[in-house]
Formats: sequence, structure tokens, C-alpha cells
Amino acid sequence: MKYISTRGDAPVLDFEEAVLTGLASDGGLYVPEHLPKFDVAQIASWSGLSYPELAFEIMHPFIGDALPVDEQKRLIDETYAEFRHTAIAPLVQMDHELWILELFHGPTLAFKDFALQFLGRLLEHILEKRGQKVVILGATSGDTGSAAIEGCRHCANVDIFILHPHNRVSDVQRRQMTTVIEDNVFNIAIEGNFDDCQNIVKAAFADQSFLPEGRQLVAVNSINWARIMAQIVYYFYSALALGAPGKKVSFAVPTGNFGDVFAGYLAKNMGLPIERLVIATNSNDILHRSLSSNDYSKGELIQSLSPSMDIMISSNYERLLFDLYDRDGSKLKAIMQDFNKGAAIQLPEQALARARELFLSARIDDDQTIAAITEQFENTEYLMDPHTAIGFEAGRLAQKYVSGPMVCLSTAHPAKFAEAVERSGVDSKADLPHHLSDLMERPEHYEVIDNSLACVQELIQRSL
Ligand SMILES: *Cc1c(COP(=O)(O)O)cnc(C)c1O
Repeated sequence: MKYISTRGDAPVLDFEEAVLTGLASDGGLYVPEHLPKFDVAQIASWSGLSYPELAFEIMHPFIGDALPVDEQKRLIDETYAEFRHTAIAPLVQMDHELWILELFHGPTLAFKDFALQFLGRLLEHILEKRGQKVVILGATSGDTGSAAIEGCRHCANVDIFILHPHNRVSDVQRRQMTTVIEDNVFNIAIEGNFDDCQNIVKAAFADQSFLPEGRQLVAVNSINWARIMAQIVYYFYSALALGAPGKKVSFAVPTGNFGDVFAGYLAKNMGLPIERLVIATNSNDILHRSLSSNDYSKGELIQSLSPSMDIMISSNYERLLFDLYDRDGSKLKAIMQDFNKGAAIQLPEQALARARELFLSARIDDDQTIAAITEQFENTEYLMDPHTAIGFEAGRLAQKYVSGPMVCLSTAHPAKFAEAVERSGVDSKADLPHHLSDLMERPEHYEVIDNSLACVQELIQRSL
């Protein structure tokens, strides 16, 4: 399988190179040249498979012979053995044709474990084979950081540096990162906000000359192709459990960077009968505005109760735009350059119509989020985290536009976002699962530093 850039002007890469390369050299994102397609008979034949067995069937065409088949299976088995539910991604029924897909049973209690547990193992395998060491540098508003650290803490060939905004992530989120005490794990709190962290990371990737000879930076945010790939699996897994391919299924996805819902779009293009994908945003609604009023323009950042979706720009949207512009890389390059200078993206009529056939969208603000948590607890005694509540509320609203089951992705465990749960006033405390029950007592280690690229570079240099 070959990977090409959405801006049409960067080298074509194989799987291994695509995993090691973050942004393409032309500023674009890598996507597969062709998608694997599965027919109805093939999808039907998978209905009895376990999660790891299915994961192999879905991911193998993307990985190809980049690693031996036995090794692919071993990495997948080890990845999902870390999950604390035997179904890996269990479905819970909420109402007639309304389901929650629990994606928070991994080690750090958010859906990001599905991809990052795998990516850590994959990187270790690739780097071992190449005799290479890399530096992972990432910015996090919470969940990515802990999932990446947990995925890479045992990688001998990886040093991982994660920047988080000082005092702006929840205590649980911070501790899930800073209590991992390993020689190759470095937590950095930046005196600034998430955008400051992300800007430092971007600048460091653009000029890597501060690194020792032979080292390169690797990205673990959702621009990394392997992450998207691993997320395709649970769309197939849950749809099969609900009667696909004989039945069409819809999904509602709490969305920030557009990585998770983009994986659903790929699943559909690979042959899974998905009726609609519902993009659920919080008040940071750039995607909802794009679909509802054809206005993809950067707004002001609003701090919400669902911080993992507090973004102004959804980087993975570019991957969808690439398809909507008929894979015309040079056209998209011009559009993205204008966008980066402040212009809004307005889709041509036909592209907008296509997007609206695929997606529905909804914007759910904090009050609606809290109301959804409260109401659902009253109806079923099921406690949702705020991100999940946004997906659930959007899914419920979208039910009138679809015919079959609606699956709402639950992206985090409620204990991770205790504040929102408390504000909902429900008579239930979200306890951390057993393996994290002493999290608040564990020793932490992190450095607080100035909002400055030079300070981060200096810290990395002295730590390697
Ligand atoms: C990352 C995250 C999201 C958003 O996922 P994207 O792939 O960025 O759209 C939603 N909910 C939770 C809990 C997350 O951690």
C-alpha cells in the first residue's frame, strides 16, 4: 500500500515511512492511495470474529508486507490484551435502536488507547528492525498525552516528550501522565494554553536541527496514519454485532480533530453499510458550521466541559476535503494556504451536497451536555462522561433522519471528567477503575517551563 499527501506535492511513501512521518513535506497529510474494499459476503463472514481477529482483517491490507503476518497478529493481540473488558468495545443498549459503544476500557480510559497502544508497539517493531531511535514530541489537552505515554513507556527506541498546558488539564488527566516514571518519559507543563503547546511542537518539527545526529521527531497526534487505521476496526465490530452487513447502521461521534469520525468515513468507503455519520461538536463548532452553513472558518477558542474537543481547527478534515475536491492536491494546497491566512473554506455546491449525504452534524453546548448526562442517568442509571454525552445527544437528535440503529461512541470514562459529572447533579460518583484507584496518591514528575520553543529544545537536548 502506498501513501500520498493531500497536497499532492510530497514523496509517495510506504506504510513504514508514513508511520514515521508526521506532516508531509508539502504541509499535507498522508492518506492511502487506494482503499481496500470488502464485499458483503466477506464482511458477513467476519461476524463471529473476536476483536483482535477482526482488527487483523481490517488493518492487514493497509500494513501489507511492512511486517510479517505473524508479527502483525502478535502486535494486535498484545494491544487489545491491555484492555479491561473482554469484549474490548462493548455495546450497551440505551433505547430502541439507540446504543452506546464503550471505547474507554483501555489503560488510560479514553478511546485513544485503541490506536496508541497499537502505535507504540508498531513503532518499537519498526525501529528495532531499522536500528533507529526516535523522539516523540506531542502536545496534549489531556487524553492523547496519557495514551501516548502509556503506549510508548516500554519502547526502548523511543524517548517521549509530552507538552500540556500548565493547570489546564484535569487532575486525573495530568496524573495519568505525570505518574508514569520511566527513563524515556518526559512530561512538560507549559506556562500557556493548548495552542501555545501545539505551536511549539509545530515549530520543533519544522526545524529539527536541535536534535542529536541521527534522531528525528515522530508525531503521535491523529495526523499519524496508523492511528486512523486502528480506529476503523470498531466501526466494523459494532456494526457486525448489530446485524451488518444485512442492516445499515449509523454512528454519532464526539468530534474534535476529526480523526475518529474520519475512520468511520473510511469504514463506509471500504464497504461497511453505514447510513449516516453524525459529527457532534461542542461550542467549538467549526465542523458543524461547515456542514450546516458552509462556513469552515477559524473561531475563538471556547473552554468547555469537554476539553478534549476544544479545538479551533480540525486537522483531519483536510483528509475529507481531499476526497471532496476529487483528490486534486494542488487545488487543496491553494485552499489550505488561503485558509491558513484567515480565509474561510466554502465547499463547491456539489461537494457540499456529497458531504451532507454522508454526514449530519450537531453542536451541543455545555448546558445541553449537562442536561444529557442528568437525563440519561435518570432514565437508565447510566453515567456518561461529557464527551460521550455530546455524541449521545447528537445521536438522539439525528435518529429522526435515519432508519436503523444509531451507535453513539463513548470516548471516555466518566471518572476522567469528574467536574462535569458533579455539575450534572446526579446521585452517583464516578470512581476510577481498580487499576487506577491509587492514582491520586502516586508520586508525580514533571517540569514547568516557559512558553518558549528554545526552552523546550533545551530540555530535550539535556534529557537525551
Ligand atoms: C480526542 C477525543 C475526542 C475527539 O476525537 P477526534 O478524533 O479528535 O475527533 C473526543 N472525546 C475524547 C474523550 C477524546 O479524548
